[in-house]
Amino acid sequence: MTEPFDTQTQHDQHGRYPESVTADDFRRNLAAIQARIDAACRRVSREPATVRLLPVSKTKPESSLRMAYAAGCRVLGENKVQEAYRKWEAMQDLTDLQWSIIGHLQTNKAKLVARFAAEFQALDSLRVAEALDRRLQIEGRSLDVFVQVNTSGEASKYGLAPEDVQGFIHALPAFSALRVRGLMTLAVFSGEAQRVRQCFVLLRTLRDQLRQSAPAGIELDELSMGMSGDFEIAIEEGATVVRVGQAIFGARALPDSHYWPGGTPAGQ
Ligand SMILES: *Cc1c(COP(=O)(O)O)cnc(C)c1O
Repeated sequence: MTEPFDTQTQHDQHGRYPESVTADDFRRNLAAIQARIDAACRRVSREPATVRLLPVSKTKPESSLRMAYAAGCRVLGENKVQEAYRKWEAMQDLTDLQWSIIGHLQTNKAKLVARFAAEFQALDSLRVAEALDRRLQIEGRSLDVFVQVNTSGEASKYGLAPEDVQGFIHALPAFSALRVRGLMTLAVFSGEAQRVRQCFVLLRTLRDQLRQSAPAGIELDELSMGMSGDFEIAIEEGATVVRVGQAIFGARALPDSHYWPGGTPAGQ
């Protein structure tokens, strides 16, 4: 049972976050978000150290990413592979900066991901798993992966249907370069906190069920869920990774339809 928290979404802020232009802006935003993460953890008696904040830098220029780095960020999330690859190439001097790909991947771009990414959070097909594994073997690398689940039932969202995840996970041990860490989802994009929360509850419940029958070597410790508008609710429901872009970097210039298929994240 979900505790009756009345934590609200902040989707009304969407598109209004002020742009971060100095490293101090980044430090202040990161500190404010960490304080909100800590508070959400306290509400459910969780250790704040069990929640990782993944800053999402998509669409932002290299100068912004460098300021985020100066403010302490060492992993950045990007949802388009080619954009991420270009940024990685331009920032090779930051040798301890790692990249997490959080958006849908086409098979023909698997080789780019295999070359530079540390983590891929949007795995939802065996063809992509196979392509990644093959390229990773060639590169002599491995990759942390999250299986993306469509918890909102919206046709516009990527990810496996919840009932397909078990069979999918059982096929993954064949791909030895993929280290399966957990599940990822995007909740319905709605001001109705209860509907958002249900998506997170579904992901956690699914993870708890799958853990009991997961094949050897498949860890399902992680739940990547929650973004700028809803990460506190996600933490209340067990998120171990929250992916936060605008509340750290500032609003994006392009509308969400540019990043999510089918227009704005549906359900508004
Ligand atoms: C852009 C993006 C985020 C972050 O969204 P914000 O509203 O900027 O916090 C999180 N997850 C995915 C998959 C994204 O593409």
